[in-house]
Amino acid sequence: MTDLPALPWQARQWDRLRAALAADRLAHALLLRGPRGVGKGVFARRLARLLLCEARPRENEACGRCRACALTAAGTHPDWLTVSPEPDRATIGIAQIRDLIEQLGLTAHHGGYKVVLVDPAQACTREAANTLLKTLEEPPGAVVFLLVAHQAALLPATVRSRCQSVTFPVPDRAEALTWLARAVPDVEPAAAEAALDLAGGAPLDAVVLCAPEARARIDALTEDLRALLVRQRSAVDVAGGWQALGAVQTTERLTRVLQQAARVLAGSATPSGQNRDGQHAAASSAMQALVAELDFERLFELHDACRAAWRGCALRQGLNEQLLLEQLAVTCRESQSTRPAGR
Ligand SMILES: [Zn+2]
Repeated sequence: MTDLPALPWQARQWDRLRAALAADRLAHALLLRGPRGVGKGVFARRLARLLLCEARPRENEACGRCRACALTAAGTHPDWLTVSPEPDRATIGIAQIRDLIEQLGLTAHHGGYKVVLVDPAQACTREAANTLLKTLEEPPGAVVFLLVAHQAALLPATVRSRCQSVTFPVPDRAEALTWLARAVPDVEPAAAEAALDLAGGAPLDAVVLCAPEARARIDALTEDLRALLVRQRSAVDVAGGWQALGAVQTTERLTRVLQQAARVLAGSATPSGQNRDGQHAAASSAMQALVAELDFERLFELHDACRAAWRGCALRQGLNEQLLLEQLAVTCRESQSTRPAGR
């Protein structure tokens, strides 16, 4: 009935909210939190459609047949308000929240719930979040706020405390792989598994990473690392390229690339020199070239640096991204291999 299929690893969260809704106990503000790429946004939209569906009391999902469902599917339901950063902006500004509040002051067109989706909620500036907070404290009528956040820690504690948290962890690996095989049937299982690893176990992110252009970007990052390790390129040059991707994405992807490198390195260290579980077969030539420059000591040093940088930018707004990326590139370039030369 819907182009928003239920994701199998979200059944527990769905059942819990569905039960609360049936008992008329649904919190008026929900904070859907968890890593990027696990489907929080899909879940929020599925819930929004159910809240607005005219057949809701009888159905477990939005019916897909009523007038409201036609409007939500077309993205034109007047009682569903979405706030996201405007094009070319990284943040949600106070003007957007003021507009939202003004629209909430109007009566619901269809006489039921109004649904507000804020995605990603951590993109709210401090002023925007504080303005939103006042509305969360005194919601105007039957409104349900759905705040979607993969970096919920960036939201003020006052906003978080006004919301009921619904947590979306990374699903079980086997379940994710089964789902992925159906989602991207043309991709070889080993490649899908490698994409899931690079996505940190987040299945929707893994789908994105299965696309040829995304794989090319990962290969480019992998090659950047190798070029730094062999001092083929300068830190400033490499960091300049990284800036286009942004500090959060770059540091997250680099961390995952190094995690995959660790698996490849472990695989290549087996006595036969062969991989144990197909990981090596899935490794790109860029990955194999990177691994050739690494021993575990150097790999862990790089991984720690990338991970620290990722954590650092995930927890701070208004960060100097250029500086952070340049420092990271310098660290990578200056790392030492203990592996004997001409191995
Ligand atoms: Zn419906």
